[in-house]
Amino acid sequence: MLAIDGDGTIRQSSLAAGDLPSSLRGGYFKAALPGVTNDTRQVVVAFDLPSHRMTLERAYLSPYDIPLDSGFLRSLLVLATLAGMLTMPLIFNAAFYRILREPFVLWHSALTISLLLTILTSSGLAVVLFDPPAMTLSWLTTVIFGLTVASGAMFAHSFIEPGRLHPLLRRSLLYSAIWAMLLSTFHAAFPFVERPIQSTAYTAAFAPVIAIFILSMLDALRRGSRGAKFQAVGYIPVIMSGLVRLVTGVVPWLESNDAMLLFYMGCVCEVLFTTLGVADRFMAIKQQRDKARFDADALKRLSERDALTGLLNRRAIEQNFETYRAEGYRAIAVLDLDHFKAINDGHGHGVGDEVLKAVADVLQGDRQVQAFRLGGEEFVLLVRGEDAQLRAERLRQAIPAAVANAVPGLGRAVTASMGMTDTQPDADIEFSEFYRQADELLYDAKLAGRNRTKAMLAQGAEG
Ligand code: GH3
Ligand code: MG
Ligand code: MG
Repeated sequence: MLAIDGDGTIRQSSLAAGDLPSSLRGGYFKAALPGVTNDTRQVVVAFDLPSHRMTLERAYLSPYDIPLDSGFLRSLLVLATLAGMLTMPLIFNAAFYRILREPFVLWHSALTISLLLTILTSSGLAVVLFDPPAMTLSWLTTVIFGLTVASGAMFAHSFIEPGRLHPLLRRSLLYSAIWAMLLSTFHAAFPFVERPIQSTAYTAAFAPVIAIFILSMLDALRRGSRGAKFQAVGYIPVIMSGLVRLVTGVVPWLESNDAMLLFYMGCVCEVLFTTLGVADRFMAIKQQRDKARFDADALKRLSERDALTGLLNRRAIEQNFETYRAEGYRAIAVLDLDHFKAINDGHGHGVGDEVLKAVADVLQGDRQVQAFRLGGEEFVLLVRGEDAQLRAERLRQAIPAAVANAVPGLGRAVTASMGMTDTQPDADIEFSEFYRQADELLYDAKLAGRNRTKAMLAQGAEG
């Protein structure tokens, strides 16, 4: 930089890139002129190989950096508010992720963080807060831009529903993310390799990424992706600002424009709509999961029921035996219909089935008795309460009348034999052993002439 006075006196200074401070105006750097006085007539500034066209196009002389006046403070406040808004989705995502371990939630957080950092670094906010050297801010901005593009691509990659995006495009999104990271890391690490064309080449290298992105959105929308709808709306302003940047950066006769205002609004719009999308997906997945759980529960309940009588079956008793015991069911009765084969033989299997249903109805008539059908015409009763034997016996004796009532014309009473036993509350016993004891007593009852009960109860009663 030269300051040339009217009398030909020249004062000069020069600054290396690394010594340039950042300007409060986002994306600009500043340099103090060599002593300008009232006699100074000319100021000459030479840029040694600027790495970006905008450096030449936008350079201006000013007596000060942007003054921290109310207008500037207002714009900083607006930006800080936007940045603050972007922290809310992070909190939501943390909550979502605890419930739904889906990668798109993490990518959405990465996207949100990088957009937050983008707003901080590309506006004057970072300069007000940290005053980093211009080159530091420059490479930070570059890396964060790469991160933003990469996490945006990865979010789309993981968020668009299976089957709603051509596999090739989905893979291309992944490659786009890698490409964006490589590009921006290289550009940040080696900003001066091909100075005259590097920035233009760098900007142009993002063209395929934007193309893949737009194609993916269109393809996903065409295939009816709900997630893509939220993204498409959210991305419109950012894509537009990207296009403005790209076109004005590449076409030589257009003044390059970084469309920052559009971009900031786009960042917030993008986060807003994708957050809605994530919440929407969260609800959908949660509903699916709840339904699957409900179905599984229903199936389990179904698998524990006997199809003919609706009574609980052997599986139910075996799987829940401990629970029943804990609930106080300490007596077991095994009950078998007498000469049931004769009913089948004499009246047909259908009538036999009716009899079994009638018996099942009878056995469900006591709230302290849990009835199961173990198979064939054999039932198990789990009984709780003081007078367990009495309750079981009452049910057994109710069978003939109830069956005669429900299935008339059988010609003889349908009776049942029963074996019954119980255990002490603290006894450690398996169902199979418990059952075997009662079944032996049932056998005794059959041998003794049927239509009777043989019981061996802890309180000493035997009959
Ligand atoms: P006992 O007094 O010794 O118990 O004689 P029973 O005839 O009742 O005993 P058995 O075990 O010989 O016969 C049981 C019959 O139950 C044989 C089978 O045809 C019938 N059965 C088993 N399951 C069903 C079913 O689901 N429906 C019908 N209708 N009959 C069944
Ligand atoms: Mg029988
Ligand atoms: Mg039997």
